[in-house]
Amino acid sequence: MQIINKVAEMQATSESLRLKGKRIAVVPTMGALHEGHLSLVKLAKANADVVIMTLFVNPLQFGPSEDFSKYPRPFERDAAMAEKEGVDYLFHPTPDELYGNNFQTYVGVESVSQGFEGAIRPGHFRGVATVVTKFFNITKPHCGVFGEKDAQQLAVIKRMVRDLNMDIQIIPAPIIRESDGLALSSRNIYLNPDERSQATVLYKAIQVASQKIKSGARSTEGLVSHLSSYIVETSPLAKIDYIAIVDADSFEPVEKLEKESEYLLLLTVKFGNTRLLDNWRFKI
Ligand code: AMP
Repeated sequence: MQIINKVAEMQATSESLRLKGKRIAVVPTMGALHEGHLSLVKLAKANADVVIMTLFVNPLQFGPSEDFSKYPRPFERDAAMAEKEGVDYLFHPTPDELYGNNFQTYVGVESVSQGFEGAIRPGHFRGVATVVTKFFNITKPHCGVFGEKDAQQLAVIKRMVRDLNMDIQIIPAPIIRESDGLALSSRNIYLNPDERSQATVLYKAIQVASQKIKSGARSTEGLVSHLSSYIVETSPLAKIDYIAIVDADSFEPVEKLEKESEYLLLLTVKFGNTRLLDNWRFKI
């Protein structure tokens, strides 16, 4: 695996791969890799000849009171894991290399960015869309792999690619979970043992929702209120940020579940200062 820190070198490498007729997949990450990230690499390898992983903690997508400086950066470990999984190129620029002086061009995806994570983290999706656009321009991929774990991010990227005619296939990757159901996340290491054991409530709530829907529940308001009570009663340390059921593409809230449409149940729960996100994509 080759590690590349410079934009110009990454662009030249990608250009020469394209000229050789290679199909390129990019897997954007912020590092602190776990099996979730590695599953994206597996999917990338199945869909391309060459896999480029970007590893960059993007200052633009963190709010002023968020964990940018303390976000884990175990670079040596990440590089070893990426290489073992078969990543061909690890693109690892510094913030200065990527944004330089006087940076002033941003990509904003409008309505799909606005609710939920976008409302709680103003500017977050503008930071994500901007850095992903830069990575697409730098790595020149034919396809990009993004986790369904970050469902709104995936919807934002899909919308951006369609709206700006980016000639890149977006491949969604299913959520990878611990054996007790907790979705893998680089932020899980912030949980203390009590919080960690109660954090399974997100996955349990998804199972409760699935049961309720199987037995005929169709009102999203009723479902959300049932799940809120379930979470608060099951897990005293949990503080709910939001629970919602939305259309899977537009992220518009829905009132009543109907056949044919695809939905997402979004769950965001805080344990101490750690926000955990989970979701379930479903049809009735
Ligand atoms: P991050 O490093 O948190 O920015 O995540 C990089 C990519 O990995 C994103 O596309 C995430 O959606 C994806 N990802 C993170 N956690 C998981 C998981 N548990 N299962 C599948 N994909 C994940």
